[in-house]
Amino acid sequence: MGGTFDPIHNGHLVAANEVADRFDLDEVVFVPTGRPWQKLVDDGARTPAVSPAEDRYLMTVIATAANPRFSVSRVDIERRGDTYTVDTLRDLHRLHPDADQYFITGADALSSILTWQNWEELFGLARFVGVSRPGYDLDAGHLGAHLATLPPDALHLIEVPALAISSTDCRTRAGEGRPVWYLVPDGVVQYINKRRLYRTPQPESPGVS
Ligand code: ATP
Ligand code: MG
Repeated sequence: MGGTFDPIHNGHLVAANEVADRFDLDEVVFVPTGRPWQKLVDDGARTPAVSPAEDRYLMTVIATAANPRFSVSRVDIERRGDTYTVDTLRDLHRLHPDADQYFITGADALSSILTWQNWEELFGLARFVGVSRPGYDLDAGHLGAHLATLPPDALHLIEVPALAISSTDCRTRAGEGRPVWYLVPDGVVQYINKRRLYRTPQPESPGVS
């Protein structure tokens, strides 16, 4: 499951756990993005409008640490340049050549799949699981005629318990000093406070970013 995870929240965790259960997955690998090209500040320098990668990585580790089936990969944050899902899937395939890969994505991200780089290749690297998300339609209509060209199990759409939580809302809340308790795991609340994330001015990156 790829994501900016800025911060990781319970909507991500419930979706991942539900897909793991439905498809009997051995492992869910959370992959925080390096440079999300969809989220660059329009300042000419193509600066990502996201927290330092190391903060997002550590929050993802904290949130998933207790679940033996969850792990976190650094492939995207260690790759140079913009993050593309096709590179994520290639890297994970190299690391786990015998694994059947499933890429978990929310209904909002699914609807932009045709704008992703090398999208035709994506379906050869993994099955896609689109999960419901409050406020977004879960359907593959946008794939249009392309849908018919995909293998029958290339894309699954599944309903997961609805959690109307977004990282954007968590960042706004934290920035305004309002609570994020119960929207994100307790350890993530504590990490946000400790690092003073989402307040202005922004914190320096811990270690490598
Ligand atoms: P932001 O508001 O910063 O875009 P986000 O909450 O959308 O954050 P992302 O890191 O962008 O979180 O999302 C990672 C993946 O998780 C995406 O595929 C997204 O569609 C999915 N996702 C995020 N929140 C939910 C949710 N509440 N329910 C189901 N899927 C979700
Ligand atoms: Mg998002």
